[in-house]
Amino acid sequence: EVRVRFAPSPTGYLHIGGARTALFNWLFAKKHNGKLVLRIEDTDTERLKEDSVSQILTSLKWLGLNWDEGPEVGGEVGPYYQSERREIYSKVAEQLLEEGKAYYCFCTSEILEAEREKQRAAKQPFRYARTCRDLPVEEAKARAAKGEPYSVRIKIPTEGNLTVHDLIHGDVTFDLTQFDDFVIVKTNGMPTYNFAVVVDDHLMRISHVLRAEEHLSNTPKQVLLYEACGFAVPKFGHMPMILAPDRSKLSKRHGATSVEEFREQGYLPEAIVNYLTLLGWAPGNEEEIFSLQDTVTQFELEKMSKKAAVYDTKKLTWMNGQYLSALPLEAVLPEAKIFFIKSGLVDEAWLEANKDYFARLVDVVRVRVKTLQEVVEAAEYFFKEVESYDEKGVGKHFKPEAAELLTVCINALEALETFDLASTEAAYNKIAEEQGLSLGKVVHPTRLALTGRTVSPGLFDVMVLLGKETTLSRMRKAVQ
Ligand code: GLU
Repeated sequence: EVRVRFAPSPTGYLHIGGARTALFNWLFAKKHNGKLVLRIEDTDTERLKEDSVSQILTSLKWLGLNWDEGPEVGGEVGPYYQSERREIYSKVAEQLLEEGKAYYCFCTSEILEAEREKQRAAKQPFRYARTCRDLPVEEAKARAAKGEPYSVRIKIPTEGNLTVHDLIHGDVTFDLTQFDDFVIVKTNGMPTYNFAVVVDDHLMRISHVLRAEEHLSNTPKQVLLYEACGFAVPKFGHMPMILAPDRSKLSKRHGATSVEEFREQGYLPEAIVNYLTLLGWAPGNEEEIFSLQDTVTQFELEKMSKKAAVYDTKKLTWMNGQYLSALPLEAVLPEAKIFFIKSGLVDEAWLEANKDYFARLVDVVRVRVKTLQEVVEAAEYFFKEVESYDEKGVGKHFKPEAAELLTVCINALEALETFDLASTEAAYNKIAEEQGLSLGKVVHPTRLALTGRTVSPGLFDVMVLLGKETTLSRMRKAVQ
């Protein structure tokens, strides 16, 4: 049975990299009819941020990445918060101590610091000197029982190699002399990351550990722990790094990096998910726009690239524009509402009373823009009078003769009995013909009068949405 997990540390918002990890685990589970477990890795209390768990859960749900077991949904192998599993880790650590596979270490931080200093002076990377490794067990137990602070360290082989088979990177061999007898339980009784992750992945029956490449170097340590504990080793797959456009490490200075930030800027979950899919994976043809369902069908972990993926907001923005205009309107409206309310242009009551109008408005405006924030900006003149006209537009379209043309248009529109797309368009076509002008030439001054801008959705859409009265009053104002 395929069981995968996403195991975020709640140290902030859900980062783009974390979302990509979650997505590929989700895809892998779906593809193999498996289960996705969500586990919160909250043992490093110093790095925890309040509200982070709920923010992460909200972002995952918003992206449509649901989990089968974990917070809010429960499951058989919980608790799913590491902070609630301390006893479980202690038991496993005790067992390892009992079997002589781990040992009590009484070296104080001063001793360790002095060791570190010495090795630094000799230009060697720090490796614990294994001072306590050979303490007689009875003596160590007695010291611990008397209350002397201790950590627990794993005994690892002092030489040899260890080869990790990775589904994406192939065989990766590590020299064991690079490692030392690392701590598995800290002096404060908390498990270290490597230890907790191994115990949990085993007890949660995880078959495939799919995570970011930055954890590849932890994998040999984890394999050593699996072996010491007598647990079966799961399969591993480490997804390529995500780099900034300049190929540096992705950070805040590269703009939005969390799912929440993208949401606030008006990106759609469908576009983000599609974009994330391309960070390290490709369907093998030129296609770039595909639904989650298509991806599930085509997805193969082995086809993931080893090469770092370069993150490109421009492409994401382009993709968002594609989704914004192509998604069924019902998928866009709930998100759009949030942005309109936030802008202060409308309120809940107005939206409730003007459902159809709002739907048509969003439908008309969404085609030209790339984000929901831009939908709002492009729709302002439907809610506010036009206070100024685009300067360049005035130079081009409000020349003296334009007033005359606008007056002709006003008269034609006034005479219309029905004011809809067909009738307004027919009226303008007729004017163009009579005046010997292109339709564009006739349309431009009206557009500027109605919107204050030189670019807008189709002019007849705009007119109909504004209604006859507003259309005429704005045109009259422009010719005054
Ligand atoms: N809590 C770790 C992180 O957020 C997850 C590591 C893992 O997947 O093993 O990076």
